[in-house]
Amino acid sequence: MPSFDYDLFVIGGGSGGVRSARVAASLGKKVAIAEEFRYGGTCVIRGCVPKKLYVYASEFSTDFRDAAGFGWSVGETRFDWHKLVAAKEAEITRLEGLYQKGLSNAGADILNTRAELVGANQIKLVSTGQIVTAERIVIAVGGRPAPHDALPGHALTITSNEVFDLPELPASILIAGGGYIAVEFANILHGLGVEVTLIYRGKEILSRFDRDLREGLHKAMVEKGIRILCEDIIHAVSELPDGRRRVETLKGETLEVDQVMLALGRTPNTENLGLEAAGIRTDHQGAIIVDAFSRTSAPGIYAIGDVTNRVQLTPVAIHEAMCFIETEYKNNPTSPDHDLIPTAVFSQPEIGTVGMTEEEAAAKIDELEIYRAEFRPMRATLSGRTEKTIMKLVVNAADRKVLGAHVFGPSAGEMAQLLGVALKAGATKDSFDRTMAVHPTAAEELVTMYTPSYRIKNGERV
Ligand code: NDP
Repeated sequence: MPSFDYDLFVIGGGSGGVRSARVAASLGKKVAIAEEFRYGGTCVIRGCVPKKLYVYASEFSTDFRDAAGFGWSVGETRFDWHKLVAAKEAEITRLEGLYQKGLSNAGADILNTRAELVGANQIKLVSTGQIVTAERIVIAVGGRPAPHDALPGHALTITSNEVFDLPELPASILIAGGGYIAVEFANILHGLGVEVTLIYRGKEILSRFDRDLREGLHKAMVEKGIRILCEDIIHAVSELPDGRRRVETLKGETLEVDQVMLALGRTPNTENLGLEAAGIRTDHQGAIIVDAFSRTSAPGIYAIGDVTNRVQLTPVAIHEAMCFIETEYKNNPTSPDHDLIPTAVFSQPEIGTVGMTEEEAAAKIDELEIYRAEFRPMRATLSGRTEKTIMKLVVNAADRKVLGAHVFGPSAGEMAQLLGVALKAGATKDSFDRTMAVHPTAAEELVTMYTPSYRIKNGERV
């Protein structure tokens, strides 16, 4: 039997990599993990965590305004970008430390270096040139914002990698894209006082979400002052004499803004990783191809998280790591379950969703019952805000199973988590009907929509 330096070598210190390394080490395996940048990966360093902190920061502007309706007089307010960036940095540094502590407490070797494959079971530590061997290797190197080198002036644009740490808060920004990142940052920056324009190539933002949520959010964003240009793309970016950006769109609009941010999807980080040397196959987008157990085409080498481009979400990467551990170290073959993943868009108001959209269900199911409520959230009655909350259940008329649950409004992300439990458990509309309401909440509407708002038969609304 060949002997190796390590039982497991993990490349990449993000959510999936750290989880697999930590748990394997805690099971007594000899583990090393290599990270070239900062432990915590995209989620902790320049993704979910700092994003949510910035969402909190940006919500204060509406909170201050809302306060008047409840009897408060708020004095002059002022926002300090540098203080927010510094506070964010302190928090992510703390979390980074916790990730490393968890790894070292479990007994894993923490290597601060880029690591590349040089053959089956062989990894090169780039900082020293040393070659180490491992019985199993997990590739969890994540992804990065998709580059758009073909766009004239692309070097003048920023991505979500840079936006968290801009030296100054821009007075104006054009954000390209209509997905999670574009929408979340449009709302964050608007809340911080930036003049925001969003440009999206499709007919309506958030193409993979239920139409009601997409339209509801679009309307709310426009009402609060975010400009949204649909069915258009950036044609070219150039620099103005004062250092600002001039943008021409394909439809012929010209905009002058402080910053241009591209949020056009993310690309797996597989270049120069030695995949060919190890015999690992990738798809046309560079994502590592894996089987149902996250096994690559090379024996003993696994890939998890964004680098496989299955579902680019932190909890999915962590789940894939835990399935790897079950399969390889607990003799319990477990393949990741990617069905019914609840998700939230931290726009303002939020979107929370799980399961099929009405459009997806209408294409697959003969008859649907759609339960839909649109109402003014209670807080808005005194604050005077015009925003509406939307809730929607997509139900299979044949067996009453709830196929999709969609919420647009405050705390929708929190609701999506619990709706996810219900749908995963196979809840029917009758289970919702039997559930007592929590009053007064917005979520109670989910269990008090007794009659269908409309039906869909063979794809047609009736
Ligand atoms: P998304 O896939 O969400 O959105 C990409 C957007 O860019 C889409 O609107 C897409 O349009 C558009 N697009 C893609 N290519 C082009 C192009 N060549 N020209 C013009 N438009 C283009 O990616 P994001 O970058 O927003 O986020 C990356 C991933 O990170 C997400 O998929 C998500 O999984 C994850 N994420 C999750 C968050 C959360 O859970 N809250 C928050 C942030 C990110 P179209 O729709 O027409 O294809």
